[in-house]
Amino acid sequence: MPQEAHEPNAAPEPVPDPLATPEPLARPAPRHTASSALEGAVDALLDELCDDLRRLAAIPSIAFPGYPPEPVHEARDLVTELLRGAGATGVEEITLPGTAPVITATVPPPTPDAPTVLLYAHYDVQPPGDERLWETPPFTPTDIDGGIRARGIADDKANLMVHIGALRVFGGRPPVGVRIVFEGQEEYGSDFDDYPPTDPGRFACDAMVIADTGSVRPGTPTLTTALRGTADVLVEVRTLPAAVHSGAYGGAAPDALLVLLKALATLHDVHGDVAVEGLLREPWTGGGLTEPEFRELAGVPEGTPLLGSGGLGERLWSGPALTVTGLDAPAVDRAASATVPYARAALNLRTHPRQDPAEAQDALMRHLRRLRPYGVPLTVTPGPTGPGYQAATTGPAYRAARSALRRAWGAEPVHAASGGSIPLVNGLAAAAPGAEVLLFGAEDVRCNLHGPNERVLLSEFRAALLAEAAFLAEYAAAYRRGAPA
Ligand SMILES: [Zn+2]
Repeated sequence: MPQEAHEPNAAPEPVPDPLATPEPLARPAPRHTASSALEGAVDALLDELCDDLRRLAAIPSIAFPGYPPEPVHEARDLVTELLRGAGATGVEEITLPGTAPVITATVPPPTPDAPTVLLYAHYDVQPPGDERLWETPPFTPTDIDGGIRARGIADDKANLMVHIGALRVFGGRPPVGVRIVFEGQEEYGSDFDDYPPTDPGRFACDAMVIADTGSVRPGTPTLTTALRGTADVLVEVRTLPAAVHSGAYGGAAPDALLVLLKALATLHDVHGDVAVEGLLREPWTGGGLTEPEFRELAGVPEGTPLLGSGGLGERLWSGPALTVTGLDAPAVDRAASATVPYARAALNLRTHPRQDPAEAQDALMRHLRRLRPYGVPLTVTPGPTGPGYQAATTGPAYRAARSALRRAWGAEPVHAASGGSIPLVNGLAAAAPGAEVLLFGAEDVRCNLHGPNERVLLSEFRAALLAEAAFLAEYAAAYRRGAPA
């Protein structure tokens, strides 16, 4: 997850020695009895939660074509058992064609005026990829320094266990009504993304915690408040029916590759900023990674400049990015002395979270169609689009969440965005309009999700659990005080 350079100061309270190195994993001293009671409950549960997490992570619940369905069902059974054991009632399954079971469950609100919070996670995982790149077998959960390594343990089984743990912290009787939604085919994708608005009663809530993200760095509590949208465009150039000799015809024969390159060169300005009109770009006001952190994560060698101008967050999240993701032209090894008659390029546009990706796609296509390099028209075809998301962050659930994350991590929470999409967020938001959408969790930017040696840190797991429990308590209290009105 790429992030932004300027970040709010980390410490919520005065730091005695301004030159002291910040200790990212330090936790705050308990401030009052209620706080230490909650922390005590979390700490008392941590060992058994980790045991259950290891059990769950040992199941290769890969819901991709070509993988056996039995482990997915085994994970479903274990998750159902854990939910019942944690006090959830009304455990049901949503079955959709070609889709692994979606588990839903409820905990009724303790009083009629208590708010309802929807808790989302998924129990399927990515395939392990090349197992030779793993230091230990991907489905043998292995304790490592400060954490546990296994495929899917961060994305998203630790986050699922955070929800189970939050129910256990309150002995199965949390101070809010709870709706559980545990998906079984998130990684491959399914028809479930569009399902929630067709059955809104099942997803009605005042706030939802989509636990499929985590911290911009271990120790920095992070609320992911925006997701980029995406749109693909294909651009093609045909100038000749077939290749002709570059000695005999070159110099006058229209070269399709040259036309295409001239078109592609107009997409960015001299700084590397996207130069297509009509794409939304705003300053990023949240937190994120520093430039050195970004360089390290992205593997940008020292001396190689980053592209674009302005803050990193603006380039990565609240502004457009346009990447040539593929180019068809003769390969160098097979290059002949010939003028190229046909070439094409695949473009991937990432949009401001609030911009309609179809509108952004139109802007890009208009730009390309107007170009006519050397008078040659381009054939421009729209590809798939995916919506972005921007959360409203000023409501009572966000206030409670910021306070809960601050308490759990002992640092000021930052707002970050993500370049990746979580399509279900839009479906859930459409099913429960007006509900506040919170994205936080036990992952962190170095957890290797989707890559080899995926791991979760116990410090992040504990903090995410404490944050969720504290959030439920503080949100319920805010409701009692009438904050939502
Ligand atoms: Zn995930």
